[in-house]
Amino acid sequence: MNKNRTSSLAIVAALSVALLSGCEPPSLSGLLSSESNGAAENGQSAGEGTQPTTVEQKNEETARPQRESLAETIKDVDGVPTVTNETDLSVVVNKQRALPADYIPPDLVEPNVPFPFDEKVEKRLLRAEAAQALEELFAKAKTEGIELYAVSGYRSYKTQRSLYETYVRTQGAEHAAAYSAVPGKSEHQTGLAMDVSGYDASTRLEESFSETPEGIWLAANCADFGFVIRYLKGKEDTTGYAYEPWHLRYVGKEMAKEIMADGLTLEDYFSQAAIAHK
Ligand SMILES: [Zn+2]
Repeated sequence: MNKNRTSSLAIVAALSVALLSGCEPPSLSGLLSSESNGAAENGQSAGEGTQPTTVEQKNEETARPQRESLAETIKDVDGVPTVTNETDLSVVVNKQRALPADYIPPDLVEPNVPFPFDEKVEKRLLRAEAAQALEELFAKAKTEGIELYAVSGYRSYKTQRSLYETYVRTQGAEHAAAYSAVPGKSEHQTGLAMDVSGYDASTRLEESFSETPEGIWLAANCADFGFVIRYLKGKEDTTGYAYEPWHLRYVGKEMAKEIMADGLTLEDYFSQAAIAHK
């Protein structure tokens, strides 16, 4: 049996992918703070013109920050392009759009779902609405014979920074820049992302997860619960990351369905939405 060899290769591969995308974190950090701009509910309620009331129409502008172009939700903070809508469920964080260094999501909770580890660490956490949606997603999967595990959710700036610094120390600055997510630019800091796996750990954080029953089920059903597969195959130039069939991002049902139905990235969605809205 080549089990040992196979699994160490798998670990090496998973590690490099995870570091590249900023997916897999270790332990805990502090709490505290964060401002709220009151737009955090937008992802749920934004209707596509199907709502009957005039109240809905009146709220349209404020209830749909996702209709803004990405350029409208960014500002320069000490030379770092930083998002201004960090509490929005539709916030876009990527290599060009950092979260504020001191941003900690206001409503982190632990979803009641299975984890493949016992430690009480920050990566169990998600923002409240995303956590509830994840519970519903996992429950639905279970009724269809699909067993899912939550591998890695929230990661603080502090944790990402120490990961990055460790990488610089052990591998050198150049290597770190290429393979580790810079602090502030990991979507896991939003509290809206969760890496998911099936029971079979060999496909954990592996591209081959997409071919497992769990991966197939997830891609087909996640949008019904408000999640998208954030990093798509063939969209590496748009997202800046490799294909990650395990990385779920919560955006709310309305937006998730549109994005998944059209095979979009979040970045695509906002370019299209901005164009369509003008
Ligand atoms: Zn991830």
